[in-house]
Formats: sequence, C-alpha cells, structure tokens
Amino acid sequence: MRMILVGPPGAGKGTQAARLVDTYRIPHISSGDMLRAAVKEGTQLGQEADRYMKAGKLVPDEVVIGMILERIAKPNCAGGFMLDGFPRTRPQAEALDRAMREAGVELDAVVLIEVPDQLLEERAVGRRSDPETGAIYHLKNNPPPAEIAGRLVHRKDDTVEAVTTRIQKYHSETAPIIPFYLEQGILKRVDGVGDPDAITARLRAVLAS
Ligand code: AMP
Repeated sequence: MRMILVGPPGAGKGTQAARLVDTYRIPHISSGDMLRAAVKEGTQLGQEADRYMKAGKLVPDEVVIGMILERIAKPNCAGGFMLDGFPRTRPQAEALDRAMREAGVELDAVVLIEVPDQLLEERAVGRRSDPETGAIYHLKNNPPPAEIAGRLVHRKDDTVEAVTTRIQKYHSETAPIIPFYLEQGILKRVDGVGDPDAITARLRAVLAS
C-alpha cells in the first residue's frame, strides 16, 4: 500500500497515521516529524527549516522534496509507505509523481481528512505530544494520563498565530494538490470530525473500498 494522508493542520493526520500503519505494516513517514528531528539534531537542513516552521510557513520545496524522495527510496519502503504531511504543494506532488513513475510504482490512495477551519485552531492549540512514545493528546478532547502530563511538549508552531498562518498556507498552497489527485481517480474523502475511533473506522472503510 502506497498512500498519502492530506488534511489541514490539526485534522488528525498524525494520530490516524499512527493507528493505520499497524494494519498495513508500512512505515509512517511524517515530513513534519523528520523536520523536527533535524531541527533537534541541529543539522544544516534543520537550521534552515526551523525559521519557516516556527512561523507556520512552509519549508522550501527543494529542501522537503529531497528529504522525502531519499526516505521513500530506502529498502523498508519497498513494500509501501504512508506519507503524512507530504506533498504539501503542487510542485511537491509533481516531484513525487515523477519519482514514483521512474521507480515503476504507483500510489494506491490519497486520503483527504476534512475538518472545517473553525475547529482547527482549538485542536492544534490544545495539542500536546509525548516525546517518549510519540503519542498525541489534546488537553480537552483526549486528555493525557496524569502521570505523564509533566513530560508532554507543546509544539512551537501550535500557537494561535502560527496555526492561523498554517491554515492559510493549507488553503493557498496545499489545497491545489487535491484536483491533481482527483484527476488521477485516487482521491478519497473522509469526514475528520468526531471521535478518533470513528474516524479511524471511516479511514479503514475507504481504504478497503
Ligand atoms: P506538520 O507536523 O505536518 O504539521 O508540519 C510542521 C511544519 O513542518 C509545517 O508547518 C511546515 O513548516 C513544515 N513542513 C512539514 N511538511 C512540509 C512539507 N511537505 N512542505 C513544506 N513544509 C513542511
């Protein structure tokens, strides 16, 4: 299974990807997680990406495209992969398309998780993640167990200001990839509002169809 999860910031891509990869036994490749790891390590790529990420802006295409194409060429992606957060622009989608065609493989599905803008800010601002397990919580909707609450981290770009920019970038830069996949007949839409378990069930249903 080679698939992409698309959706605005706070749509639940990371939460849902973590649940689905167990079923399909494919690597979960999150461009945001890879960039955050590079920032933490202080690599050249990380230093370049950090200033865009903090502001909620997109990291330049040439940086992200190279990083992801290199990752999906690794042996553990030979049987498939789940991309989360990439592609996020039309040039990224086209670069992925070219690389996959050259490798003689095809995308099976592009799943768009739809959530109205008015819910996104609250979802992102209340989000916390566990650096030890990678688990994602929400202070109100999915509260963390008390014993781990102290170690949770709040992303630098989950502030009201950065989230507003990220939502704007989603509409101006990322939404144009939707018609690209619609034309290819592989776009599936899932309602991302509701209980996370119900959303997982919707995702499994569209992927099975
Ligand atoms: P995410 O964890 O997917 O919300 O990504 C966090 C941040 O990383 C984004 O707001 C961007 O600054 C950057 N980023 C992640 N993926 C991409 C991408 N495909 N293209 C450009 N920037 C990205």
